[in-house]
Amino acid sequence: MPELPDLLHVRDRLRERLVGRTVTAERVRQPVVLRFAVRGNLSLLQGRPLTEVFRKAHFLAFRFDGFDLAVNPMLAGRFRFATPGERDERSLCFALAFGAAAELDAVELRYLDDKAMGKAYLIASDDWKAIPGLQSGGLDLLSPEFTRERFVSLLRRRRDQVRVLLLDKKALDSIGNAYADEILFEARIHPKTWCRALSHDDAVRLHDAVVSVMSAAVAEVAGRDAPIEVKVRDFLKVRLKEVCPNCGAKLRTAGVRGMDAYFCPHCQPETRTGFVDWRKTGK
Ligand SMILES: [Zn+2]
Repeated sequence: MPELPDLLHVRDRLRERLVGRTVTAERVRQPVVLRFAVRGNLSLLQGRPLTEVFRKAHFLAFRFDGFDLAVNPMLAGRFRFATPGERDERSLCFALAFGAAAELDAVELRYLDDKAMGKAYLIASDDWKAIPGLQSGGLDLLSPEFTRERFVSLLRRRRDQVRVLLLDKKALDSIGNAYADEILFEARIHPKTWCRALSHDDAVRLHDAVVSVMSAAVAEVAGRDAPIEVKVRDFLKVRLKEVCPNCGAKLRTAGVRGMDAYFCPHCQPETRTGFVDWRKTGK
């Protein structure tokens, strides 16, 4: 999935290139990704100028007069700027053209998704309740509300493993697999540690790691300015890597709820108490 830093970069490029321009055509190749909470279909957008592009939790939203188009790219979805008439990608789901093909600055915004798992909702302006799960979004990691105190109290209410909390979009908005590994590495916490096994110092260190890893990644991805369909990940320290950049130990993977977590066994040692499963002790 696009992680927060990717989403912000894509939002900025879409704004720069498309805001103020009018939809001149639309095409649909994979109707399965589209959901309509209004009467009609994507052709409702024809002739309407795009007035804003913004992030709404893990969605990217396109604002038109009377309508919002909100896209959750899920695992494999991505946007791409194409020149009108360019050959279709196999993963093309739908496209919006801005400008007639003969115009010099005509561009087609394509939504590609190999798995067709993403969803694009066309709703009446601000009718967010029409989108399942969007209202229950978690704490915005990049907002001033994401304080040490709020994070520690959130952590105290959890009975699961710390990596599961980091990935829970109802609690935190939002962290994916790649940055969960980076954050735990930065905080020197083993991915299978139970939330309740973390000391106050661990919790504070973890909060600070969320802030520092995510802000650095936002700056890095923005600075690279890669094409919007590319996820920049090569600066990550442990995700999909072999060797720990701190100590040189061979990195390992551990399964946490069916997801592979990358970690350094030396820098992120298991805390034995963290592995006690009280449900099984009978106490
Ligand atoms: Zn290490």
